Amino acid sequence: TSQMKDFRKPANPYSAVRKVIGVISGKGGVGKSMVTASLARMMIEKGYTAGILDADITGPSIPKMYGIHEQALGNEEGMLPCVAKDGTKIMSVNLLLEKEDTPVIWRGPIIAGVVTQFWTDVMWGDVDYLFVDMPPGTGDVPLTVFQSLPVDGVVIVTSPQDLVSMIVKKAYHMAKDMDIPVLGIVENFSYLKCPDCGRKIEVFGKSRIGEIAKELDIPVLGRIPIDPKLTEAVDGEAFDQVKNVYLDDAAKVLEV
Ligand code: ADP
Repeated sequence: TSQMKDFRKPANPYSAVRKVIGVISGKGGVGKSMVTASLARMMIEKGYTAGILDADITGPSIPKMYGIHEQALGNEEGMLPCVAKDGTKIMSVNLLLEKEDTPVIWRGPIIAGVVTQFWTDVMWGDVDYLFVDMPPGTGDVPLTVFQSLPVDGVVIVTSPQDLVSMIVKKAYHMAKDMDIPVLGIVENFSYLKCPDCGRKIEVFGKSRIGEIAKELDIPVLGRIPIDPKLTEAVDGEAFDQVKNVYLDDAAKVLEV
């Protein structure tokens, strides 16, 4: 924790980041990047400035969601984030690669070094909420990345299947062991709303998120259904146009 305190100094003279929120998941494919971007959208809709630091180095999906394919610019002072149409500032390894389909095959310590630089060497400017799309899981890489950044709190993203297993609790304990407050939990792929009758179908079985949240004593920040509009926004590279409708409770927690 003494290391954390040092980090709270401004990263560089060109950054004034007020809050760093990590978005974590116990495993890949639960919609962590989508939730990260949704949280940023929500804060922008509320009138805050927001950024996304894409720390999911081996599976960077944030720039594409916003239709950003250019390379980030830099000078002697540092690198500039790319800015999405809605004002979200974005830094990702994909903005540094000459060809964005090049695989990143670095090992944990190198990845952590790059993520550290995304904090220290990027001129973020004024950002109220910087959301960090963390690498999935609770292995060596997410752990090292955790230690590279001054994270104020984390949001855990899960799917209903995770709740059945111990995956959520693992993510929770990873944050706890590092003295990082867990702000709450978001359940993704929670249900499907029948377009004809409006009934909610819990495709993956009855949700246990309330139970788990109570057991871990953390708030539920939202339940996001399987929504074709979200898939379309991601595939259509137009996430800047997404209207946040599922994460209103998250704002109340993050704004404190
Ligand atoms: P992760 O970051 O956990 O690997 P992503 O956020 O990249 O997962 O999501 C994986 C895929 O699932 C993406 O193609 C995304 O568009 C889709 N997806 C995620 N959440 C939803 C949702 N609630 N409704 C519809 N599609 C979703």
